[in-house]
Amino acid sequence: MIELHKVSKTYMTDKVETIALRDIDLRIGKGEFVSIMGPSGCGKSTLLNLLGLLDRPGQGTIKVDGQELHQWSDKELAQMRNKTFGFIFQSFHLINDLRVIDNVELPLLYRKSTAKQRRELAEQALAKVGLSARMEHYPNQLSGGQQQRVAIARAMVGQPEILLADEPTGNLDSHMGAEVMEILLQLNREGTTVVMVTHDERHAKQSGRIVRVFDGQLVS
Ligand code: ADP
Ligand code: ADP
Repeated sequence: MIELHKVSKTYMTDKVETIALRDIDLRIGKGEFVSIMGPSGCGKSTLLNLLGLLDRPGQGTIKVDGQELHQWSDKELAQMRNKTFGFIFQSFHLINDLRVIDNVELPLLYRKSTAKQRRELAEQALAKVGLSARMEHYPNQLSGGQQQRVAIARAMVGQPEILLADEPTGNLDSHMGAEVMEILLQLNREGTTVVMVTHDERHAKQSGRIVRVFDGQLVS
């Protein structure tokens, strides 16, 4: 469970202040599938970064499973982040010099596990997204939809409780987007909490709840 209470975030660039988020109150419960929608620049990515402990709020409090994170060191925050969250992005963020299987193993390199264990977990994650036959390929030998499925396998390989997705279907045609959405729905049915930024109303309607952001505030 993640709780944001009166959270604000301001960016300072060249003495110009941008209020990216103001007074956000939001609770995301275990097992939910939440879509975040709103126009470009309204603060969606900032909100996702705060939810994923990639950034700290300017004001307000964030609690994960009842624990307030502002008391934590950066190191503790990073540990919590790696244990709790998987991330996927619009532009996949795969490493093109590494084979698919090696991309998926990457998050496990920071854990105490053997090469054999890593390989097994990565194979299971790839099977789950239907890409067992592509393990030895390189990312740029795959379609966009397949690359995003590799990214989902990489995000899920450490078995995180929460998957955070920033416009996961934004670079995909509607067919591939629907496939990716189906995988996210399946992961959610199996118990993973999913928070997704999207511009696609159809995908948002398939999720459990839509949070609308406008000009740094939650409007519904
Ligand atoms: P969205 O994801 O909805 O497009 P963002 O959260 O990326 O919105 O941005 C919200 C506002 O904060 C925008 O005005 C954006 O330009 C600004 N912003 C976001 N990140 C930064 C940053 N690192 N430095 C300065 N301004 C930023
Ligand atoms: P994506 O399209 O992959 O979702 P974006 O291109 O929206 O990502 O943003 C990439 C990163 O740049 C985000 O972490 C966001 O916070 C940051 N960012 C967005 N707007 C600005 C800005 N005006 N200045 C600096 N950084 C920004």
